[in-house]
Amino acid sequence: MKTIREIDAKIRNGSAVVYTAAEFKRLVREGAEVTAADVDVVTTGTCGVMSGTAAILSVPVAAPGEFERAERVWLNGVPCMPGPCPNERLGLVDLIVSGTAHAGAGYGGGHLFRDIVEGREIEVLAEAADRSIETRVTIDDLAYARIFTTRSAYKNYTAYLNTRPTRVTTIFSVTGLEGPCREVSVSGCGEINPLENDPARFAIRDGTPVLLNGSAGLVTGEGTRSTPSRPNLTVIADMAGMQPRYMGGFKTSAGPECITSLGVAIPVLDDRQVAALRVLDEEIPLPVADINTRTVLDTATYADLWQRPDREPTYHPEWCEECSACAAAAICPTGAFDRETGIDRDRCLACTACLAACPNDALEAGEGSIRVRGRKVPITLRQSGRTLAEDLCRDLKEMVLDFRFTFTGGGER
Ligand code: SF4
Ligand code: SF4
Repeated sequence: MKTIREIDAKIRNGSAVVYTAAEFKRLVREGAEVTAADVDVVTTGTCGVMSGTAAILSVPVAAPGEFERAERVWLNGVPCMPGPCPNERLGLVDLIVSGTAHAGAGYGGGHLFRDIVEGREIEVLAEAADRSIETRVTIDDLAYARIFTTRSAYKNYTAYLNTRPTRVTTIFSVTGLEGPCREVSVSGCGEINPLENDPARFAIRDGTPVLLNGSAGLVTGEGTRSTPSRPNLTVIADMAGMQPRYMGGFKTSAGPECITSLGVAIPVLDDRQVAALRVLDEEIPLPVADINTRTVLDTATYADLWQRPDREPTYHPEWCEECSACAAAAICPTGAFDRETGIDRDRCLACTACLAACPNDALEAGEGSIRVRGRKVPITLRQSGRTLAEDLCRDLKEMVLDFRFTFTGGGER
């Protein structure tokens, strides 16, 4: 059995063997006999629409003494909750902003968080008892800006379809889930998800260092709806180090949602961990439920989602008929598509919503399908970005190898 200290020493002297989860799974699929002696660290990750995300921001609004207490505050039109510290007469307000708070149908907390991290100017409107104040700030003006999540790395997602003939408005669809059983919406990064790879929690504990949206953070405990069979985590990190491509807003038929990502480096101390790291998409069940009743109708696996080629969309401008209004751009939940400039890979979650929207098939990908009670149902929306999560695993691997990411938060086990 190795220790964390020994792994850190191997990283320092350049002898550590570090794999991303995708690299490790490739070895397993090739039949390699890997033991704890052969691997020191595996980097895992997840990226997708995650409702349980919020920010705590300390925002300068006016000079000290200009108002007594802000009663209501909006950032770029997104309603915020002033408090918990009232900051009387300081001209400063501490705010909690939910990632799912809406400024309108197309802009919400997730969009705001990305705009802050990108360094854009943010419009502030504060209402005090006798006046309202408007100003602008950037992240450089915020003395404190952190994001915390209440359900990160959710391990057991459910795929949803609609068994009824009437379209259902839901956060699991961009335009509403069509029925009966016309389409299925899926989430979850399967075999590279951190908690799938450490179900016994040998490595992931309170205080474990992680990357939240690319920024160094910490696990602070269990998530709000965590159970032994459906675990998830609470995590916090500074917004200053976050990378925009791993976060943002996502439009749904029930309003804007928030994209969040999490990277966890798992130090491999013994063969029990290696056994857990061998889990593959085809072994991870994915329940498929009716969105109306949440009744589980069938069980697929994550291989149905991720073990297919061409899951990234490709744009063929030569097939574009230049419609008067581009339906693909209109439906894109992240604002990643423009028929002139194509797909912005730093914004695209590879959700595949644009495929069906374009009447001329100018966008193409292996959209995949799931069998539900014998019937083949096309996957029309993926609310997790497996390629982005794999990129995050690669970033984390480089950080570990460069000794920019340490395990000291977890201590020696
Ligand atoms: S919907 Fe398709 S064909 Fe029409 S403008 Fe958009 S990309 Fe071109
Ligand atoms: S797959 Fe299409 S709709 Fe989805 S984010 Fe990318 S460009 Fe937008």
